[in-house]
Amino acid sequence: MIIGVPKESFPGERRVALVPASIPALVKAKCEVVVESAAGIDAGYPDTAYAEKGAKVVPTRAEVFGAADIVLQVLCHGANDRTGRADLALMRPGQVLIGFLRPLGSPETVHEIAATGVLAFAVELMPRITRSQNMDALSAMASACGYKAVLLAANALPRFFPMLMTAAGTITPARVLVLGGGVAGLQALATARRLGAVVSAYDVRPAVKEQVQSLGGRFVELPLETGQSEDARGYARPQDETFLSRQRELLTRVVAESDVVISTATVPGKRAPLLITAGMVARMAPGSVIVDLAAERGGNCELTRLNEEVIEHGVTIVGYFNLASSVPYHASQMYSNNLTAFLLNLLKDGRLNLDLEDEITRATLVARDGRVVHPLLLVPSSTRSAS
Ligand code: NAD
Repeated sequence: MIIGVPKESFPGERRVALVPASIPALVKAKCEVVVESAAGIDAGYPDTAYAEKGAKVVPTRAEVFGAADIVLQVLCHGANDRTGRADLALMRPGQVLIGFLRPLGSPETVHEIAATGVLAFAVELMPRITRSQNMDALSAMASACGYKAVLLAANALPRFFPMLMTAAGTITPARVLVLGGGVAGLQALATARRLGAVVSAYDVRPAVKEQVQSLGGRFVELPLETGQSEDARGYARPQDETFLSRQRELLTRVVAESDVVISTATVPGKRAPLLITAGMVARMAPGSVIVDLAAERGGNCELTRLNEEVIEHGVTIVGYFNLASSVPYHASQMYSNNLTAFLLNLLKDGRLNLDLEDEITRATLVARDGRVVHPLLLVPSSTRSAS
């Protein structure tokens, strides 16, 4: 099998789908690797590093698609709404495509991909089972985003994060509130703690309480009924407007008392819940910072502007998306490890082994033989469950 790695084409994207260190494991599995020249350069992996590990470096994207049996990308068409469509003309029937496809967010693009005849796998749909933990790209990238969100907040905040006892006086630590304690939120919590802030976190899923406390954070308890808040896969269920409205009311004081809010709350396949209204922002102290990691999904804060940093009521609101791309060396390394583990599960004796009895293969396969095949994508989006 020939594995092809084109350069990412989304504007500003710095990650690469495969790093040189992953190549030996793939060669051992009887694969060859073809990489587009400069594919890894923005992440810190020059062509020479790929060549040293045995990859063939080719000058153009078309040559990668032309040679590859399996194409690995970070942002495929669907997840790349700017330049992704151009790849459709390069795909051919029977070729395998693996990457972020944003299948629940833009199911129509999965149909376009299916029409090319490729066998497409969306890493977003990786089942969250023990066996696939090392293939879970959503978690790996969420971790990078949570880390970077805290650095952006610390940079924008006109205060120190840690408590400092200096000859010039005692500095009180920053108070950081994390909304949504999934993978990104917990990484944000841990990072803010390492910088010395006093951290609290809130999540609609009660199971998060113990995780927050084990990382040294305080769990914010709200008097809200949260019994049905988690689905079988461990994701939050969508809440109705009555619940969200009461939640905002109860969060108002907690948000107002925070110097920094890192909001990460999302529900798969749905718009992100609105947790911070303009009125709540107005009650925060001037100089406070909100980093809205849910910006791309509609935002947790009413005043967030996608991919912008704005100041409203004296509060800096950061709405940058694709933060994992701003830690490209390690984000690529993690993603490459995820894809390599996925590929090793998918290949047998150097050939594709499409075993639909395998939960990992079945759950991630979205297109085959010219058709969309994933059950979640065969129903209208309005009736789709939050899986
Ligand atoms: P996510 O990105 O879908 O959501 C982020 C967080 O927002 C979640 O914790 C969710 O509960 C929370 N949220 C949603 N609506 C909210 C609201 N109205 N108010 C407050 N918080 C709200 O979640 P994720 O980071 O992908 O993780 C979801 C779960 O899956 C977690 O329990 C995580 O630990 C688990 N997980 C399991 C595995 C595995 O077993 N292999 C791997 C990764 C994650």
